[in-house]
Amino acid sequence: MSEQAVFDVFVIGGGINGCGIARDAVGRGYSVALAEMNDFASGTSSGSTKLIHGGLRYLEHYEFRLVREALMEREVLWAMAPHVIWPMRFVLPYHKGGLRPAWLIRLGLFLYDHIGGRKLLPPTSTLDMTRNPAGEPLKRLFTKAFEYSDGWVDDARLVVLNARDAADRGARIMARTRVVSARRQNGLWAIEAEDTATGIREVLSARVLVNATGPWVDRVLAEALGKKDVHNVRLVQGSHIVIRKKFDDPRAYFFQNPDGRIMFAIPYQEDFTLIGTTDRDYAGNPADVHISDAEIDYLCKAASEYFSDPVTKDEIVWSYSAVRPLYDDGASMAQEATRDYVLRLERKNGEAPLLNVFGGKLTTYRRLAESALENIGEAIGTKGARWTAGSRLPGGDFPATAYEAEVEKLKMRYPFLAASHARRLVRLYGTLAARLLGPARSEADLGRRFGADLYAVEVDWLIGQEWARRAEDVLWRRTKLGLKLSPAETADLEDYVRGAVDAAA
Ligand SMILES: Cc1cc2nc3c(=O)[nH]c(=O)nc-3n(C[C@H](O)[C@H](O)[C@H](O)COP(=O)(O)OP(=O)(O)OC[C@H]3O[C@@H](n4cnc5c(N)ncnc54)[C@H](O)[C@@H]3O)c2cc1C
Repeated sequence: MSEQAVFDVFVIGGGINGCGIARDAVGRGYSVALAEMNDFASGTSSGSTKLIHGGLRYLEHYEFRLVREALMEREVLWAMAPHVIWPMRFVLPYHKGGLRPAWLIRLGLFLYDHIGGRKLLPPTSTLDMTRNPAGEPLKRLFTKAFEYSDGWVDDARLVVLNARDAADRGARIMARTRVVSARRQNGLWAIEAEDTATGIREVLSARVLVNATGPWVDRVLAEALGKKDVHNVRLVQGSHIVIRKKFDDPRAYFFQNPDGRIMFAIPYQEDFTLIGTTDRDYAGNPADVHISDAEIDYLCKAASEYFSDPVTKDEIVWSYSAVRPLYDDGASMAQEATRDYVLRLERKNGEAPLLNVFGGKLTTYRRLAESALENIGEAIGTKGARWTAGSRLPGGDFPATAYEAEVEKLKMRYPFLAASHARRLVRLYGTLAARLLGPARSEADLGRRFGADLYAVEVDWLIGQEWARRAEDVLWRRTKLGLKLSPAETADLEDYVRGAVDAAA
């Protein structure tokens, strides 16, 4: 074990909240370290529905503060990262005698259009589903619909771009590093962190500790900090299924289920449809969460209430599950627990301060980080002003509406790229796609091909720039090419990644 210099801020957790806080803090001039025990976004932050949304449903629970803040963030985040975030239109079908009266939905959407600082996103409209192509895949029962705007995000990439930017600004960002214990010592934190690959432990010092471990927040308080009787978050599982493309329309659907819950069917990764999600209390280790048969049945059944061609189990090509770390506000039903975030600063008699993060959405992560920085300023002295609104995440330095133009630029520079490949690279890496491809002049210059359009040049970039250490990191978080590679291709990639990582060590 070795002793290190003192960091101003030490963040535990490399999900969206931890990475967002680390980025904001280092940009204000604090010295920052962050430890993530697995891969970035391997917890809840890659298992979401991937919406940058106000949360129409939360209006029913009078969460006006949250909805307004989230609505306002839609265009701020889109401008920050127009490669991994983009607008999407949602079609909300309804029929007479449905769950919610049309006037209520109209009122919700009126608020949605008017309280959220909308500038570029188009407003709500009403559709005649007997004529509109959006009606085609649905049962004839749905003759009318509302169409409204929200945003889409590649959640796992949003996390890693925050981590990358924090590192570029000087933060020490550690993947696969588990915080084993943290104790207060002479007005500072002594944090023991273990490299999960080598088992080597290191003790780091910090002035303030941020516990941004999402669904692990209470476990970390109990296990690493030795607290008793901790119960701040309610763990609520949510699962999604991915099926082969159910419809061609680029719009997503918002379905209301007979149990009062809502669900989305979203065009996904060009060839697929994403359907989710569920809401049920969860008691186990968040790392072990997986979709249950009952959830699969529920999702298939609920989607089949709408699609004229029913959704069946055998159509499922992939599924994923994650745990929401909802602040425990005592709500009786999982779907009613607040989606708002709560920050608690613990600072007693000159002892080193601890900031706990409870709850939070991807959509509000930047605002959550700003609030965290206010707490950090209060705890150890303010540095720097708010700066992240108007900033760009790596590769996001092009106008919000210019994705197509970026694709054209990339195709001009690398004419040998297939159109779909160029589109995928700009979606993932934005303006950095050209740095990734470097001097390549033909497909052969991209190196070994692992399957689909994944070549060594991209894998090497992900290892060198984005902390990828396993095939899984590449296939399911940095990209979604796991949907396209065969088991043999995946095994090949695993060998390559391990070899490259060992060679670099
Ligand atoms: C089903 C579902 C759908 C959702 N849909 C949306 C949506 O559409 N839009 C939206 O805005 N939000 C959505 N959310 C909410 C959003 O995904 C989460 O609120 C957010 O990802 C939580 O991020 P986090 O950083 O707090 O937690 P996490 O992403 O879980 O990050 C915590 C990290 O801490 C690490 N960690 C834990 N213990 C330690 C330790 N001892 N040492 C080091 N690291 C540790 C974990 O490995 C983990 O990576 C959804 C959530 C779910 C579950």
